[in-house]
Amino acid sequence: MVERIGVCPTCGLPTDICTCKIIERETAKIKIYMTTRKFGKPVTLVEGIDENSVKSVLKTLKQKLACGGSYKDKRIELQGNHVKKVKEILLGLGFDKNMIEES
Ligand SMILES: [Zn+2]
Repeated sequence: MVERIGVCPTCGLPTDICTCKIIERETAKIKIYMTTRKFGKPVTLVEGIDENSVKSVLKTLKQKLACGGSYKDKRIELQGNHVKKVKEILLGLGFDKNMIEES
């Protein structure tokens, strides 16, 4: 009888000794914060979304918030103040709440 042990798809080690998730959690940080542009217009900035998923994340955010948005300088910029809602949407997309920092 063979005992099945979970193996990490990233490093190939058994999951109980693998540290990939821990490393990922420590390095990956998503920052959500608000700033103002000219004429005092608020914009919400989201930094730290993986390059591979940033396009679909931006699309989802724009749809759910019904606002304009763009991706430049490695961050998402959304028109208006949506810090709380952006966090909720990212959690809904499966991002770890420990990865998300809001200010
Ligand atoms: Zn691993």
